[in-house]
Amino acid sequence: MAALTATRPSRRKFIAAALAGAAASGLPRPLLAQGAQPRIVVIGGGFAGATAARFLKRTDARLTVTLVEPNAIFAACPFSNEVIAGLRDMRAQLFGYDRIAADGVVIAHQTATGVDGQARTVTLGNGTKLGYDRLVLAPGSDPRFDALPGYDEAASERMPHAWKAGAQTLLLRRQLEAMEDGGTVVMALPALPYRCPPASYERASLIAYYLKTKKPRSKLVVLDAKDMFSMQRLFENAWKELYPNLEWVPVSSGGNPTGVDVTAMTVSSDFDTYKAAVANVIPPQKAGRIAELAGAADRTGWCPVDPVTFESRLVPNIHVLGDAAIAGAVPKSAFAGNVAAKICAAAVARLVRGETPAEPKFVNNCYSLVAPDYGFSVAGVYQPVNGQWLEVEGAGGASPADAPRAFRSQEAKFANGWFNTITSEIFG
Ligand SMILES: Cc1cc2nc3c(=O)[nH]c(=O)nc-3n(C[C@H](O)[C@H](O)[C@H](O)COP(=O)(O)OP(=O)(O)OC[C@H]3O[C@@H](n4cnc5c(N)ncnc54)[C@H](O)[C@@H]3O)c2cc1C
Repeated sequence: MAALTATRPSRRKFIAAALAGAAASGLPRPLLAQGAQPRIVVIGGGFAGATAARFLKRTDARLTVTLVEPNAIFAACPFSNEVIAGLRDMRAQLFGYDRIAADGVVIAHQTATGVDGQARTVTLGNGTKLGYDRLVLAPGSDPRFDALPGYDEAASERMPHAWKAGAQTLLLRRQLEAMEDGGTVVMALPALPYRCPPASYERASLIAYYLKTKKPRSKLVVLDAKDMFSMQRLFENAWKELYPNLEWVPVSSGGNPTGVDVTAMTVSSDFDTYKAAVANVIPPQKAGRIAELAGAADRTGWCPVDPVTFESRLVPNIHVLGDAAIAGAVPKSAFAGNVAAKICAAAVARLVRGETPAEPKFVNNCYSLVAPDYGFSVAGVYQPVNGQWLEVEGAGGASPADAPRAFRSQEAKFANGWFNTITSEIFG
């Protein structure tokens, strides 16, 4: 008996020895097993970050989740093209964080100004330092103000990009309203990758709709750094049918935007210079600045991630979500940011328990409107293959090219339904 007792340690001693062994071997000890309350900091309270914060807390109430977001009110980009076209009130785009706070998420209305991936701390604008066990970065995308000659932050006050919703959206709206009938609106679109490319063609359509219905002697020229884009056939069919006032100039016809002159109000392309009454310049983009400061962005300006956990490939214990991440074939959309956030929240909750995250699947669905009662969509299904998100062949697809108008009108209604559902899930 005595010999047996000596060779069979008690359960408590066994666990202690196992944990000591794990520590000695360099394996991380599960935080919950250590009795600590894991601290998760989420930077960015947009579609991806606000979803992640809420779902982390719902997945495991023991997590201490802090959401860092400077604005008390979030302004949503989806449907902001309708605001620009005068079809929707900006107030329908605004959401607060009270319900997220009520779920037990600590909200810090601050800008994150620094991340120390070694010390695992986030510095806030007011100087406070937050320690974290896992950090979720979801700062969205920023314009590259050094990419298009003549187009810097000051120029965006004269030629709005309106690619972040809020003041820029309203500025472009006011400019279109103030424009005299007969003027030319010029849009400049960048090469991929950037935030939600279909939204730029939706915007072109809805500006063309506004001009056709309110300023019928005006026209829209779209200068594009691309020859092909998602749902192209659907957009082009609609433009042919509805908008003779819209001229799309692809890169192969000299449409590539090469610079702007805000004083002369001109936008130049490979072949020509266009005088604009209103110019909407969407510049090339990159991950939000804090991602770069955290060391999570690579030379492309975006953040490479592992597809199962969304953990950064560059800095351990940092997960990157939403527009800021390069996630293989997964597009940069609010829909995708929301899905990625749920996958990541589940993975992080497992990781801090010392468990292996489950292998996820991913769905994205994007609606576009070309007129108030005319919509279509594209869906994609993705799965991790060799460390990258790849599209599952044959699983998605776009709306049929030859559908009747009643079908398009239904899809416009579905688009509204989608927006109401996603925003109430995140903020409601
Ligand atoms: C005109 C337009 C229409 C669109 N339509 C659709 C659509 O119909 N469907 C769709 O799915 N997608 C659409 N999108 C795309 C969608 O808006 C984005 O893909 C989505 O917002 C990305 O989510 P995110 O959380 O990564 O970034 P965001 O939603 O932009 O959120 C980022 C948040 O991070 C905060 N932040 C940034 N830096 C810091 C910092 N240092 N510290 C703290 N907080 C910080 C910001 O304040 C912001 O609240 C559209 C985009 C545009 C421009």
